[in-house]
Amino acid sequence: ETGMKSREAILKDRQYLWHNIVPYNEANPPMIAAEASGSWVTDIDGNRYLDGMSGLWCVNVGYGRRELAEAAYEQLATLPYFPLTQSHIPAISLAEKLNEWLEGDYVIFFSNSGSEANEAAFKIVRQYQQQIGRPYRHKFIARYRGYHGNSFGALAATGQAQRKYKYEPLAGGFLHVSPPDSYRRPAGQTVEEFNLLMAQQIEERIIWEGEETVAAVIMEPVITGGGVLVPHQVYLDRVQEICRDHGVLLIIDEVICGFGRSGRKFGHQNYGVKPDIVTMAKGLTSAYLPLSATAVRKEIYEAFKDNADEYGYFRHVNTFGGNPAACALALRNLQIMEDEKLVERAELLGRRLEEGLRALADHPLVGDVRSFGLMAGVELVEDKVSRRPASLDTVKGLIAACKAKGLIIGKNGDTVAGYNNVLTFAPPLSSTDEDIAFLLETFTSVMNASPAT
Ligand code: PMP
Repeated sequence: ETGMKSREAILKDRQYLWHNIVPYNEANPPMIAAEASGSWVTDIDGNRYLDGMSGLWCVNVGYGRRELAEAAYEQLATLPYFPLTQSHIPAISLAEKLNEWLEGDYVIFFSNSGSEANEAAFKIVRQYQQQIGRPYRHKFIARYRGYHGNSFGALAATGQAQRKYKYEPLAGGFLHVSPPDSYRRPAGQTVEEFNLLMAQQIEERIIWEGEETVAAVIMEPVITGGGVLVPHQVYLDRVQEICRDHGVLLIIDEVICGFGRSGRKFGHQNYGVKPDIVTMAKGLTSAYLPLSATAVRKEIYEAFKDNADEYGYFRHVNTFGGNPAACALALRNLQIMEDEKLVERAELLGRRLEEGLRALADHPLVGDVRSFGLMAGVELVEDKVSRRPASLDTVKGLIAACKAKGLIIGKNGDTVAGYNNVLTFAPPLSSTDEDIAFLLETFTSVMNASPAT
């Protein structure tokens, strides 16, 4: 309930603060958070909520970790800043650690956000293709419904029209194909056949564009914000094969799937994918400080390093990227994940979450339940046969009912096409058994009180 303190703060909020996406809404004002611990956030009036979305899929180790605050504090007191045109130990140590987590041979470029990590990847790819004598390879292939960030390049890679059309022209050279949305595959096709056909779209696009013009494919292992679309193994196997056959690089966006969310250290490891470039942010610091990274396969880096011409360098400066405090904090964050075995815990809790949500499969609104590690999507429909998506009002009503009972859940982004119908779940990996039980009980009771429309 909105109490005294909130009412006052909401007036000032309305006057001074420009929010991400959400318009001001008299009936449903923003929650004003004051403090948080574990999986629970308390607002300034003292109401408590279980954060079933870990913020925006990012507070992986949970809230209130003093040791993270201390790691940042100590680093700020020792060496608050030094540019990565030169170097410092926190960045070196974190780059080494990320290499271990990636189980490959990568060099790390640091930035501050997921969008910037993807922008750096796009520029590295284009310059790399030029430096190895393939100057026409400038195009990127991404998927509809994928999200890669808010800046002109990352937004161009994004496949959600509603985020783009008011801001065009965006960066050029970004093409899209359909994602493997297995629930909505044509009747008569198996999931495997459908996934192969969707992967095949990428090859067709490469061929018709002319492979000598295509630089890279970018995708999340699982489309997260676009509806938790979990591909079949054959999809990613085929995508890798296609990239290899056509000399196209593969960029994997691990901004959400990374850092244990998927039940492995990185989402692509679930599928045995070997990316050329991996981008990451969010869970890298569990969102305690801004930091992102673009991990680039060593051979790609070598094409830059060995170039004798000074203009062969990657001419990309990021003032704050890889700042010592964020790197020190990220290292401590990864240490917590290792010490508390949070990656394994995500897998265990994810199975429990999936089971609990699947118990609602017969509910008239539930069309499909999908999960990947400790994230899940419940696709709501008006009718199970036609699979017509539930309305935005239905979806918002359920989210509001959960919030009234102390549970924050999410939904996939509004789409122009009206597919706003997937509820999303991604609690902290450090959630207790009781937290997950509360989430499931609360959501189940909300669903059971909600008849089909
Ligand atoms: N990639 C993916 C998959 C994301 O989900 C996001 C953020 N939701 C981004 C990139 C962009 O990250 P940021 O908001 O930190 O720029």
